[in-house]
Amino acid sequence: MSKERSNDVYSNIKDEILKCLPPVAQVTVIEFEGPEVAVYSRNPSILIEGEDLLKEIAKKIKKRIVLRSDPKVRMEKEKTEQIIREIVPPEAEIEHIYFDDVLGEVIIEAKKPGLVIGKGGSTLKEIILKTSWRPTVMRSPPIESKIIKQNRALLRARSEERKMILRNIGLRIHRAVISSKDEWVRIVCLGGFREVGRSAILVQTPESNILLDCGVNVGSSTRAFPHLDAPEFDLENLDAVIISHAHLDHAGFVPFLFKYGYNGPIYCTRPTRELMMLLLRDYIEVARKEGKLVPFTLKDVAKALIHTIPLEYGEVTDITPDVRLTFHNAGHILGSAIVHLHIGEGLHNIVYTGDFKYAKTKLLEPANWRGIPRIETLIMESTYGAPDDVMPPRYEAEKRLVDVINRTIRRGGKVLIPVLAVGRAQEIMLVIEEYMRKGELLEVPVYIDGMVWEATAIHTAFPEYLARDLREKIFHQGYNPFLADCFTQAKDRDEILEDKPCIILATSGMLTGGPSVEYFRLLAPDPRNSIIFVSYQVEGTLGRRVQKGWQEIPMQVIDETLRETRTEIIKVNMEVHTIEGFSGHSDRQQLLKFVDELTRNSGRNKERRYHIEKIIICHGESSKCLSLGATIEKKLRGRIDVAVPHNLESIRLH
Ligand SMILES: [Zn+2]
Repeated sequence: MSKERSNDVYSNIKDEILKCLPPVAQVTVIEFEGPEVAVYSRNPSILIEGEDLLKEIAKKIKKRIVLRSDPKVRMEKEKTEQIIREIVPPEAEIEHIYFDDVLGEVIIEAKKPGLVIGKGGSTLKEIILKTSWRPTVMRSPPIESKIIKQNRALLRARSEERKMILRNIGLRIHRAVISSKDEWVRIVCLGGFREVGRSAILVQTPESNILLDCGVNVGSSTRAFPHLDAPEFDLENLDAVIISHAHLDHAGFVPFLFKYGYNGPIYCTRPTRELMMLLLRDYIEVARKEGKLVPFTLKDVAKALIHTIPLEYGEVTDITPDVRLTFHNAGHILGSAIVHLHIGEGLHNIVYTGDFKYAKTKLLEPANWRGIPRIETLIMESTYGAPDDVMPPRYEAEKRLVDVINRTIRRGGKVLIPVLAVGRAQEIMLVIEEYMRKGELLEVPVYIDGMVWEATAIHTAFPEYLARDLREKIFHQGYNPFLADCFTQAKDRDEILEDKPCIILATSGMLTGGPSVEYFRLLAPDPRNSIIFVSYQVEGTLGRRVQKGWQEIPMQVIDETLRETRTEIIKVNMEVHTIEGFSGHSDRQQLLKFVDELTRNSGRNKERRYHIEKIIICHGESSKCLSLGATIEKKLRGRIDVAVPHNLESIRLH
């Protein structure tokens, strides 16, 4: 890419904006801020009052515009803070006010952000008009989150650097395209095909290289990382990384890219950004404790954070000269997204489901495809793609959970539920809270392990992403189930293990490390106790062995007095239960229903018919990928090409 051509696009956008704005706006700088355009003005009030004009320009140049004030006209900080506190009603409960000198933003952290914003943004406008600082409102979660605090502090501290990064990303996105090129689209399967773990897909066009997910397989030492050694993958030419959701098998390898010189953007939703930081930091910590090697450091994790550009569901964003990205709710975990890539001007549309749940849960609304205008290629997961992967109805699963817990408590036992910190943990918390509140579950303390606690805190920072009725409870009835009295943050393990019945929610969900392993070791020999698996157990993990009914399990135990590890045989006398139905993944029926609704060519949904040309199956054990692929092919009677590729295969889509 030559510099002049990139500057060409930039000057065109700049000229267009200047042409439309009245001289009284006193624009001083126009520059890219990632995919957006920032306009610095000495008279921001004129632009606020002429809001329609800004919208018109944005439409014309097909870019989002951020209005910023020139440093010269910003009011003194002390005075600004005073004015904000006068304008914003005290019920908003402002906790902090920070200033970002680089961007001219005043960051207002409040318990009730809605009251800071005001009706139709009226209070925010008033703040700009009176102070010439641009207010950014952030929620102070009702459960304090260390991660969110850390992330926000880091972003504030490195604002100058971030501004430069965003400017460079913007220039790269808006480089000129050589239109005479042949048009093609292909993908390269770098990880997560015919397996669960290390998800990574490279999308290539003559103009762009985009990575969809970049995960690790925590359960494997030989197949832990995606094939970034594939000849097609070139870090230097990578334009963008898109993360569907925060789980490590989709985002765990992101910092590695930065360690080796990647300098481009990570696109994900706002909750994904916070959860991803939590899981990445924990990944490093757990590995360090276990003496395992992690190919990156906390420094690289921080780099990933300042390169992340969060997007809302439904927001269409240019990420390269020929690719537009839009996220849609995937219903899997907080902030999880179905990724829609629009390539060229109507050339090809790829939809990548990531992990998705095509049914409502207590925590989230079901996956939503209805905002997607077109799909030619569908890349979908198949975790539960086999014929016997049909989950029981939710109420049955809940009833079984309540039964097992009540029986265990009555005989004086403890219940261990190994959970993924993000997703299943909160879903199970909501079930426990509801049944205890209704008096159907015996009241005992529910200990929430530190990591789960932190993840739950992050959930309380994003109530607008939660299921409708849960949101309704939080916003309109003023009741937040996550703050219920039954939940206690697990701090003192000895105290928890005292001879009293209780419920323990701890990570990891597959007993591959973390406190759940330690709880298991201590609780397994007592027949009064129960372990309940509520999520998928990957082959080869301790969780899978226990689930399969192993009665004696050799485990490595660290003897602290002798300072050595020894192998201990653990007798599993506790009751072992697997309760399906709480999964954040679609089961076989839901997967097929999803495909059916997207491809049906008759019936009520006729108006929303996609001309899908290809379905590519990923994210499942080989047998499940194959089974789902074969079933879909049969159902569609060869109308659509179905592929079940291996890692390292590449497929031309257009
Ligand atoms: Zn996931």
